[in-house]
Amino acid sequence: MPPVSIQDVRVIATQPAGSRLLIVKVLTSEDGLYGVGCATFTQRFHAVIAAVEKHLKPFLIGRDVSRIEEIWQMSMTHGYWRNGPVLSNAVSGVDQALWDIKGKRAGMPVYELLGGKCREAAAVYVHAGGNSPEAVSNSVQRFMDEGCRYIRCQMGGYGGGAPRIPKPDGAPDGAYYDRREYARGVLRMFERVRKDVGGEVELLHDIHERLHPIEAVQLAKDVERFKLFFLEDPLAPEDLDWFRNIRQQCATPIAMGELFNNPREWQPLIADRLIDFIRMHVSQMGGLTPARHVAAFANMFGVRTAWHGPGDTSPVGHAANLHLDLWAPNFGIQEWCRFNDLVYEIFPGTPEVRNGYMYPNNGSGLGIDVNEELAAKYPCKDAVEQWTQTRLPDGSPARP
Ligand code: MG
Repeated sequence: MPPVSIQDVRVIATQPAGSRLLIVKVLTSEDGLYGVGCATFTQRFHAVIAAVEKHLKPFLIGRDVSRIEEIWQMSMTHGYWRNGPVLSNAVSGVDQALWDIKGKRAGMPVYELLGGKCREAAAVYVHAGGNSPEAVSNSVQRFMDEGCRYIRCQMGGYGGGAPRIPKPDGAPDGAYYDRREYARGVLRMFERVRKDVGGEVELLHDIHERLHPIEAVQLAKDVERFKLFFLEDPLAPEDLDWFRNIRQQCATPIAMGELFNNPREWQPLIADRLIDFIRMHVSQMGGLTPARHVAAFANMFGVRTAWHGPGDTSPVGHAANLHLDLWAPNFGIQEWCRFNDLVYEIFPGTPEVRNGYMYPNNGSGLGIDVNEELAAKYPCKDAVEQWTQTRLPDGSPARP
């Protein structure tokens, strides 16, 4: 195969729904050959655009597109400071685009390059919600009617909604929550849902690192009787040493990782078998290249994959998740956010979900593209993020 080199690297920024989405497009010396990759960091998108176009691009122009691993290693280290969310997302955009290019050159989908399929489609989980146990239960039943078998249950979003405890005079605006009230609400919710739908459907829940570590240990024990498929992010990345306490106290399956971007965050949890599902945000960890290393590493320890798949992963990122899911022997479950029709129009090839399974298409590479003209009609809007300005009842700042 004659060498093909990188000719240009640019970022497509678009906001067709709630999240600002960033796609890196890598153009090559071969006429018409290009790749796309997800670099979405919706809250800091300007910084990622600058990292790609001002810092990575000059380093990448002229390089051989086939050398994905080498380019990843050098992209992550040649700025000396590494492993941050801005750089990791920027590197991911380039990395996924290079996998897309490699697949297009080979005439194969990316899952074939990874080792081929272990399964025909990836089972997904969806998000049920409501402001009362009854509303959540109704939402779960609607998803079950659509053929969903894995359903995440949240009451009042993360943290259970506004607290009943009054705020002190002068407390600033913000997204308030109350840890104790939230933890009690989770138990009320699962009591009702299990009573209504029985034990067959797989239920999940995301604590979103909103509890004190000891409260998280308590809740993991308290929900054990509901036989969850997994309990997500019970602890913050800053409190990793507490995972051992959860393990010692209960057999609730634990999922963790969407905030991780440093290998030292996931390595000990996997090697010590302190979690059951790794669920990094694939662009936040640097792309397909590190994700496949982690999947293989986790497989050695009986830990399954559950890559992060919310609305602030672009459809290109969801396609990358799907290729990993189809290949990985230790695939566990895939989160799915359900995009609107406009997103499917802007991103032809966005994975389709039928009857609880996400299916690949017949395209080579990642099997997805971007309609740039249409994407340009929905530019990213600047706004100060509100939901992440979380506070406890007394007004003090808390993790979102
Ligand atoms: Mg989560």
